[in-house]
Amino acid sequence: MFKAIDTEPVVANEKFVRLLRKNKLKVTQPRLSVLQIISDKDTAISQPELEKLLGNEIDRVTLYRVLATFEEKGILHKIFDLHGTATYALCSTECDEHHHHDQHVHFICSICNSIYCLEDIKLPKINLPEGYQLDSVGINAVGRCAQCKALAE
Ligand SMILES: [Zn+2]
Ligand SMILES: [Zn+2]
Ligand SMILES: [Zn+2]
Repeated sequence: MFKAIDTEPVVANEKFVRLLRKNKLKVTQPRLSVLQIISDKDTAISQPELEKLLGNEIDRVTLYRVLATFEEKGILHKIFDLHGTATYALCSTECDEHHHHDQHVHFICSICNSIYCLEDIKLPKINLPEGYQLDSVGINAVGRCAQCKALAE
């Protein structure tokens, strides 16, 4: 009778456990909690926001390390908001260690500062002059998200 209530978190957890194992990471509660929160949101999330949602569950240093590891492993990608604060969003499944393939435009709302991954809008190919090395390309589309636009009308 109580089973139905438990089903959903367990399923979600299994997915994250698999993701951690695939990346040869130990399954820890802080890592699972961070993945859960980030996958529940449809916008990118900053470290301070994560801290607020996690409460006392994880200390700041641990959280910092979890995010750094996830970024390195190709689980999360980083996007800077309009104030230069780093925010994090889940990667596509093609990302792996040291290689991110999140070649999409990000939409930043200038009112609420929410960041959305526009996965269908791909970045242009950047052909650099000889001798240059490309590390990252970022294109942000800035405007009003659907919610803020609706509120203003
Ligand atoms: Zn990535
Ligand atoms: Zn907005
Ligand atoms: Zn993205």
